[in-house]
Order: sequence, then C-alpha cells, then structure tokens
Amino acid sequence: MKLTSPTQVKNWCIENGFHPNKTLGQNFLVDLNILNIITDAAGISEGDRVLEIGPGLGVLTEALLHRGARVTAVEKDGRLAGRLDAALGSPDELQVIEADALALDLDGFLAVGFDACVSNLPYSVGTRILLELALHPAAPRCFVVLVQSEVAERFRAYPGAEARGQSGVWLQLDYEVTLIREVKAACFWPKPEVGSAIVRLDRRSCGLSKSERRWFFDLTRHAFMHRRKQLGAVLRKAPEPLSCSEERLAQIFTESGIDPHDRPERLSGEQWQALSRAFDRVFNADD
Ligand code: SAM
Repeated sequence: MKLTSPTQVKNWCIENGFHPNKTLGQNFLVDLNILNIITDAAGISEGDRVLEIGPGLGVLTEALLHRGARVTAVEKDGRLAGRLDAALGSPDELQVIEADALALDLDGFLAVGFDACVSNLPYSVGTRILLELALHPAAPRCFVVLVQSEVAERFRAYPGAEARGQSGVWLQLDYEVTLIREVKAACFWPKPEVGSAIVRLDRRSCGLSKSERRWFFDLTRHAFMHRRKQLGAVLRKAPEPLSCSEERLAQIFTESGIDPHDRPERLSGEQWQALSRAFDRVFNADD
C-alpha cells in the first residue's frame, strides 16, 4: 500500500474493518511533501537510532528506514503494532514494541541512547508523552514531532505571550524550540478538526545543577497554576517544599533580582533559572 495515498489508506481500512480510533488520535499522515519535510528536519544519518511513538500504519517509519535509521516504534494499538513489521517487509533495522508510551520504564528504555525521536504524536496525550521523554536525563538530543498547532504555540511561547505556560518553560529549559511549519488538516486521513505543526527541539545545556533543577520544576509547577497572579503572592502561599518565611522569600527575590510584583507568565527562562538558583542557595545556607 502507498501510505501517502489517502485513497489507498482509506481502502485498506475499509477492507480490513479498521476504524481509526479518535481517542488514540489515529489521524494518519497521507502527504508526501509533509513526510519529506519531517524526515529532512530530523537530519537522519545512516545508522542513527530513532525512536518513533505511534507509528500507526508506518508512513513515517518507512521513510525513516529509507534514510538508513534503525527505528524503534512504540504503538499502543495492538491491531497496528501486530501488522507493522511484516507490512514493512520485516527489516532488521525495525523493532516494533506494542505498548503505551506513557507506561514505558524510561530509565531502561532510553538507556540504549536514541539519537532522535521523530513522531506524529496522538493529539490527546502528545504533550505528556513529549514532556516525559524530553525531560528524561537520557532523552534523545533531537525531537521532530507533529503536534496540534495550539500545542506547538505553547512549546515555543515567549515571556508574556498568551500561550506562555508550564510546557513551554519546561521544554525551553533544555531545548531550542523551532517551528518548522504548519500542516493543514487535509494532509491527514481522517481529517482532524484542528491544524497541526511540525516542531523541532534541539537539546542544549541549561547550566542548572541537579538540586537547582528540582527547584526549577517545583517552582514553575506551582507558579503556572496561578500564571496571572503576582509572584510574591503566589510564593507566599506555596506548599512544601517551596513554603518559607517572609524574610527568606524577600532574600530570594533580592538575590535573584526578580520583582515580586511580576507575574509567572511574564518571566523569561533565565529569570526562572535565577529564581531556582536563589531558592537553592538560600535554603542550603540555612540548613
Ligand atoms: N505515525 C502515523 C502517521 O503519521 O500516520 C500515525 C500517527 S497518529 C497521529 C498517532 C498514533 O499514535 C496512532 O497510531 C495511535 O494508535 C498511537 N498512539 C496513541 N496513543 C498512544 C500511546 N499512548 N502510546 C503509543 N502509541 C499511541
């Protein structure tokens, strides 16, 4: 079957009694141009180890194999996982794992050292899957993913932008986020109700220590529950481990150079890092 032909994909589904599952985000990519843009953006070299979440019928898997990648594909739907290897001619370079990407033991799974993750992620759980993978210490150095346009906006949102939130601040800590291009709903079958976008993430070093990182995630997790409130008020009422005296909090704001009247949505990545460092210093000094 030609996987970039909407007619052939649709006919295969009809002939095999396969009804794409909306909950699993089964909107198959059927556009050759977009397929090439994704594989080009991933810059795969011969022998690269590539992780693909949700291979579906295998359109991306096949293209990655053609580029010389060794592909590990994780598919939750047993009907798709069960046919994929044979459908692509059982290549040695392909490993298909039938599993929920959210239930993987990532410490063991990522230990092989993937060079890249290239995926057309399911809408409903795409952000969760990406965050779990990308923030793991053994994460691939590069991600090229297709996600909902709105989600892509959040990933790359700058301070003060309407879409600025926890997922963008977290990803931007460790990655350069680039929007490769928007993708129309017509490039998928069945057509989704929303637009999509291709995003590339390139790993960079954030410079925070292990304990500063813990502060960073605790702080931003709490603060983005109140993104429009003033940071001073948000942190004054923060739960453990962030909870501290007025004096300590004042010292943290002074040391970090952050204005307590500023709001979480307006802080830059560097400012969150400065605040995390100050929490770490002040709490450690008092221990
Ligand atoms: N890669 C194919 C393509 O581009 O046509 C399919 C992409 S489709 C948007 C998302 C795929 O992710 C589906 O095959 C779906 O069954 C699978 N999927 C959904 N949730 C999953 C999960 N939690 N873990 C692994 N795969 C999942």
